[in-house]
Amino acid sequence: MKTVIIGAGAMGSLFGGLLSISGEELWLVDIWKEHIDAIRSKGLAIEEKGITRNIPVNATSDVRSAGEADLILYFVKTYHTEKAVKDSLALQKENTLFLTLQNGLGNEEIICKQVDRKKVILGVTGQGATLLGPGSIRHAGWGKTSVGELDGKATDRISRVAQMLQKAGIETEVSSRIHDLVWEKLFVNVGINALAALLGLKNGQLLDYPETLRLMETLVHEAVEVARKKGIRIEGNPIDRVRGVIEATRENRCSMGQDLDFKRKTEIDAINGALVREAERFGIPVPYNRMITDLIKVIEKTF
Ligand code: NAD
Repeated sequence: MKTVIIGAGAMGSLFGGLLSISGEELWLVDIWKEHIDAIRSKGLAIEEKGITRNIPVNATSDVRSAGEADLILYFVKTYHTEKAVKDSLALQKENTLFLTLQNGLGNEEIICKQVDRKKVILGVTGQGATLLGPGSIRHAGWGKTSVGELDGKATDRISRVAQMLQKAGIETEVSSRIHDLVWEKLFVNVGINALAALLGLKNGQLLDYPETLRLMETLVHEAVEVARKKGIRIEGNPIDRVRGVIEATRENRCSMGQDLDFKRKTEIDAINGALVREAERFGIPVPYNRMITDLIKVIEKTF
């Protein structure tokens, strides 16, 4: 299955590198030329548990040169999705599939505005990666990846995508409730990212203070209330799940934290901000999420 990944930052490079090793026809596309040039000249360096591998990967900053794709996978930040989808339409053929594994809400809708909904599939991933510099990333997390059809059906094409990822060493399942899983991932991001980012904390430190614990739980409770109203089926206890992720990523500075540290735009609009917009539609007050969204937005404006 010829796959083109749009957005070859931390996650795009991780998936691209692993798929290339497994023998899939794979192209990385990124507008960051220095990064693409480094991959083309020296290969992609993936550091994993202290060991660095250099992997030859097809990479280009000219999207058209990647050619027609069976699967287009988006790994740009959420505020770049619309432009990335537009750019990638040149790679489309009759049965091309369009997949996003990005965080947050709204990516599906942005893709479906430009692409026939029947060609769009959805996913979430618990894999984690950090960009180290041009041509170089660190594999930092090994959680499960889930993919699914928008209508939840078990199709051959979704099985093929899952098998391809599985073969590349990316633990993947097909889910019949992929929208529920997108929300479950949202709970994690809503509870951790903006809070740790604002306070300058590593994830694990959120569990060290009663105040941050209370704030995390309230942010997640608000999100759960909106999800329930929306008809999202929630399995297990979301707060326990968020705590579990915090424990497992104790030493991480979350990506929104890194964005603030380096004075970069964040994905707040697709995470707590998206939750606020959904809450408004149902008339549910979510004051903690509103406040934390506003705080991040003001910080972004001072950059
Ligand atoms: P990143 O910033 O490292 O990479 C994004 C890349 O997209 C950049 O290299 C940028 O140059 C490129 N880009 C922007 N516009 C483009 C365009 N039009 N065409 C081609 N390339 C373009 O981001 P990331 O950390 O890899 O995250 C990507 C998505 O995955 C985000 O939604 C994030 O929330 C999600 N995610 C990240 C992790 C993680 O551990 N980093 C884990 C799970 C999910």
